[in-house]
Amino acid sequence: IHILGIETSCDETAASVVKNGREILSNVVASQIESQKRFGGVVPEVASRLHVEQITLVIEEAMEQAGLRPEDLDAVAVTEGPGLVGALLIGVNAAKAFAFAHGLPLIGVHHIAGHVYANRLDGGMEFPLVALIISGGHTELVYMERDGQFELIGETRDDAAGEAYDKVARVLGLPYPGGPHIDRLAHEAEVAVEFPRARLEEGSYDFSFSGLKSAVINHVHNARQKGQEVGTASVAAGFQESVIDVVVEKTVRAAKEKGVRQVIAAGGVSANKGLRAALGEALEKQGIRFSVPPLHLCTDNAAMIAAAGTSMFEAGIRSDMSLNGRPGMELLSWSAE
Ligand code: ATP
Ligand code: FE
Ligand code: MG
Repeated sequence: IHILGIETSCDETAASVVKNGREILSNVVASQIESQKRFGGVVPEVASRLHVEQITLVIEEAMEQAGLRPEDLDAVAVTEGPGLVGALLIGVNAAKAFAFAHGLPLIGVHHIAGHVYANRLDGGMEFPLVALIISGGHTELVYMERDGQFELIGETRDDAAGEAYDKVARVLGLPYPGGPHIDRLAHEAEVAVEFPRARLEEGSYDFSFSGLKSAVINHVHNARQKGQEVGTASVAAGFQESVIDVVVEKTVRAAKEKGVRQVIAAGGVSANKGLRAALGEALEKQGIRFSVPPLHLCTDNAAMIAAAGTSMFEAGIRSDMSLNGRPGMELLSWSAE
């Protein structure tokens, strides 16, 4: 099975061809980070315009690198949601046009299912498993009893972890996106400022990062007001420690309660070196296998959309030409009971 994946939900224009849901034949990502940097975040109108400029080239490049003709493909999979509506529409319309022109089936994919299935491209997924989805827009724990089944067991009540990383980075004067910079500084720090941990009610698998974010911002403002120097690295280290502590504790607890043998991590923040190391170590102690995609498959890409699309294709899922971008799309199971 050869699937062309297309992803435009946020600020990367991406296309990829994946064979049998596992083997990447091409993976082209045109990132807008350099253009969006000067705005300190993603400006939706700018994102849409840049997607329009890139999408055709990116798809052509992905097909050429894969060395395939359109008639060699089995389907086109595209991110249907969630994301920025104007950005999603560019990918959805390109996918519809491509599928229609070449008589191929069309499959609308949930962006987070894509992040999860990035793990299939690298070492595989053994069910049942617990997935930690930790990205710019999501922080969730999901139980997957089998392929194509998702049961939400916990989610953030306010900010996503990546959002908190980016806001804290901004206050510290670090470039966008802030996650990698905080990660690097946290490793260089000699001391860590102590910040609170939001564990919520006993037994809860939900997350909250807005209190932590406010505590960091207050700490920085107070120091500046008193004319003290802000120890950027020690603030970064303290913030990161607080995030990791809570995320690791809840993930391990969920894995034990569900009795799974594997935990996978997915989404941009799963590129975090401190988090990967801490989760790996804590799960190893429990005899639970931990997998996380290589860094370039943690952040947004289209290979992950093709990988999830392949599982959906095999389950017989198809979209029709009324497919639309759905900014608030919910993650639903596609496999039957
Ligand atoms: P979503 O996937 O929820 O729709 P998104 O697509 O914007 O949101 P991703 O592209 O998956 O999110 O991830 C981007 C986020 O990952 C940013 O917030 C960025 O700061 C964060 N990030 C990337 N690398 C790291 C890192 N090493 N440590 C922490 N955060 C990181
Ligand atoms: Fe993403
Ligand atoms: Mg992104």
